[in-house]
Amino acid sequence: MLVSAKEMLEKAVAGHYAIGAFNLNNLEWTKSVLAAAQEANAPVIVQVSEGAGKYMAGFKNVADTVRNVMEYQNITVPVALHLDHGTYEGALKCIEAGFSSIMFDGSALPIEENLAKTKELAELCASKGISLEAEVGAIGGEEDGVVGMGECADPDECKKIADLGITMLAAGIGNIHGVYPEGWPGLRFDVLEAIKAKTGDMPLVLHGGSGIPDEMVQQAVRMGVAKVNVNTECQLVFAAATREYIEAGKDQKGKGFDPRKLLAPGAAAIKAKVLEKIYLFGSNDKA
Ligand SMILES: [Zn+2]
Repeated sequence: MLVSAKEMLEKAVAGHYAIGAFNLNNLEWTKSVLAAAQEANAPVIVQVSEGAGKYMAGFKNVADTVRNVMEYQNITVPVALHLDHGTYEGALKCIEAGFSSIMFDGSALPIEENLAKTKELAELCASKGISLEAEVGAIGGEEDGVVGMGECADPDECKKIADLGITMLAAGIGNIHGVYPEGWPGLRFDVLEAIKAKTGDMPLVLHGGSGIPDEMVQQAVRMGVAKVNVNTECQLVFAAATREYIEAGKDQKGKGFDPRKLLAPGAAAIKAKVLEKIYLFGSNDKA
């Protein structure tokens, strides 16, 4: 059964650890992430972007696939199925499809519009027992024009959106999506501290968790980050393991071209990476 992310995040805040939120791309990802969470006895969030939802033949197929794999693999740890960076329309579609958690990303909208739409979705999600992640936009500042700094949120805007009845809040603290550029100065713990001071026990979400040095992630978790998104790193290890298999000529030996063999090293690499992240975030044995 899929669960809302609310309870697992509240426990994470109280226990000073974070829940890993792993983006899915296909069946290999789904099987590997769920197997790793079960092995580590960790509550987990699996999530898709709207693009990955399309790639996986629609949100309904994503929800059905996750449920079916959970049943087949005897997954007993709490699993929340979450929409990552959803539009307003996408959020409604995922609620319809049976997701147990939603992100509405209004960070590119004017703040008043972001607040209004977030409030509307917060009421809808609350009525259905679904958790909701919101995001505020970045503020300008001295980092403007400096390459690779990452963006930061305004703590007062964070407070406004946190008060709308959301479950978790994504706020920029210098983090970046994708591969971190050379010379990136690191997370802004001063900004995180200011946001935490305004938002209290609201679980905070760290996006772009791939490529931030481990000790910085752990520091952020100690300071109130309760959900860390991981996407790029699983993609990189999958690609590297698949490349190694093909470059070793294994696809040309016997039935090495069979997708069940060809994709196995990549799937194993995803599972290993997810396990590594769960232990880094401290959510192991918290199911
Ligand atoms: Zn993100």
